Amino acid sequence: MVSYKCLDCGEKIKDDIIQKRFICPKCGSRIFFKPRNKPKIVKTD
Ligand SMILES: [Zn+2]
Repeated sequence: MVSYKCLDCGEKIKDDIIQKRFICPKCGSRIFFKPRNKPKIVKTD
């Protein structure tokens, strides 16, 4: 499942919540960003 993050408070918001109401349930912000699903792996050896 795709989840978003609120740009204001950093709250994780599930996709189905955004589809119902495009607003952060915690702070009421309407600006979200999509965290990367695949984190960049850095080898340190
Ligand atoms: Zn928020």
